[in-house]
Amino acid sequence: MSKLERSSKAGREKTRPAKDNRVRLAIVGGGRGGKALVELLFNDPTVKIVGIADLNPKAPGMVLAKRLKIPHAADYRVILKNNIADLVMDVTGHPSIEKDIAQVAPQAEIIGGHSARFMWEMIEARIKSREEIERLLIEYQSLYDLGLKLTASENPEKLYNTLVEYATHLTNTPAGSLTIFDEKRGEMHLAAVKGFSKQFSNKIRWKIRQGGLTSHILNQDEPLAIQDVKRYPKFDNPIMRGEGVRSLIAAPLKAEGRIMGILYVDDFKTRRYTTREVSLLLLLSTMATMAIEKTELLERTRLLALTDELTGLFNHRHFRQQLNIEISRADRSRQSLSLMMIDIDYFKHYNDTNGHLKGNDVLKEMGRILKEVTREVDIVARYGGEEFAIVMPDTDHRKAQIVSERLRRRIKSHQFEEAHKQPDKKLTVSIGLASYPENAGTAFELIEQADQALYEAKHAGRNTVRVSHRKLKVSEAFRPRPSR
Ligand code: GH3
Ligand code: MG
Ligand code: MG
Repeated sequence: MSKLERSSKAGREKTRPAKDNRVRLAIVGGGRGGKALVELLFNDPTVKIVGIADLNPKAPGMVLAKRLKIPHAADYRVILKNNIADLVMDVTGHPSIEKDIAQVAPQAEIIGGHSARFMWEMIEARIKSREEIERLLIEYQSLYDLGLKLTASENPEKLYNTLVEYATHLTNTPAGSLTIFDEKRGEMHLAAVKGFSKQFSNKIRWKIRQGGLTSHILNQDEPLAIQDVKRYPKFDNPIMRGEGVRSLIAAPLKAEGRIMGILYVDDFKTRRYTTREVSLLLLLSTMATMAIEKTELLERTRLLALTDELTGLFNHRHFRQQLNIEISRADRSRQSLSLMMIDIDYFKHYNDTNGHLKGNDVLKEMGRILKEVTREVDIVARYGGEEFAIVMPDTDHRKAQIVSERLRRRIKSHQFEEAHKQPDKKLTVSIGLASYPENAGTAFELIEQADQALYEAKHAGRNTVRVSHRKLKVSEAFRPRPSR
């Protein structure tokens, strides 16, 4: 229907409802009130918005109408003349306009003045609460998803990244991080980070400074929100400042009084964080605490399965596994590796003289010395009873002999308790040494050769190092072979 036709029929349609039974609504005023009306009624099946008018084309209701392709004009008369309205909502608050509308659109019912204001304020509140509910729903869904992810994931790194990802997402912040407290070293280390420079991410560990921000946060029981770091003298961290952090929420992670770390969300502008955002971070910090506890427990269990309870060294099973791994590595890198088998001399005598418990103390101390004299890459294991094994990667026969001899002497000179009661007035060890691929072609052969050398060391009178004399052609030994 053309505009002309419509206006000529206007008189006849005055009292008739719209063809499709919807109430035809015209809105006068595109401010907050007009916008609220459009927002609520645009999708209402019982209402058809025939147009909206406001002198200001940038008024929020006008902008929205334009986007939704609702007819709009600066002058309400244009809207009312071109469209039949059953109802006109005048949200301008001007009594003169209401009178004029009555003349231009005599057929329409007019709601204006206080009633219009009352209505749109109610509508606005309704929209707000609908938005709030939608936001809450999304939030709960996110938290639920996060919970699932945290229980499912066993990879700590991924777990921590997920936490930071959700924390920043839920608080709508561009950056964040999770730091974990290393109790042994009294240091914090960065476990996950988002939205910061590489330089920041590389600063992986730092000491906690008394009176600094970190220790201040850790002394809190609840998240600390800082609206503007420039007005917060404690915020003196040059790295964070360098990153341009202007506001943040920091939640201390604690479980049963034990400090575990801090969860941060940061913004590069000043910002007043809402109570809701702060409590979200509190909730997330509880989840983070549980996640850290879980990874610690997993790590402890994993270590427990690898270590010998008494000495804390690797156990026999792990030694065998690692030896196979190291042999494959030696094959790939074409480097030698050596194996030392160590047995305490007259240990039965020590036990018989001083008791089993004192014997245990010697084993523990022996473990400490072995760890002390070896490198980080060496695999130091309790082979069984009073025997130890050390796998030395990248170490050939000649180098290994020097290390073994040094170790023998180190133990001989160590003041073990009650050592003077031993047959040689000292506590000593015998060492058997074999190298791969010089003396052996497989892990099994290597153990056999070191064992044989150890046996010879015992026969030679103990407190000595003996080496395998078996000679393999190196080129032959390095040929790929099935691992065992
Ligand atoms: P050798 O110089 O020939 O090695 O003599 P030895 O007495 O050390 O050798 P033997 O194999 O006869 O005895 C090993 C002793 O180690 C016997 C055993 O009671 C003791 N032993 C093994 N495991 C443990 C342990 O966990 N704790 C203690 N205290 N003693 C242990
Ligand atoms: Mg023995
Ligand atoms: Mg022994």
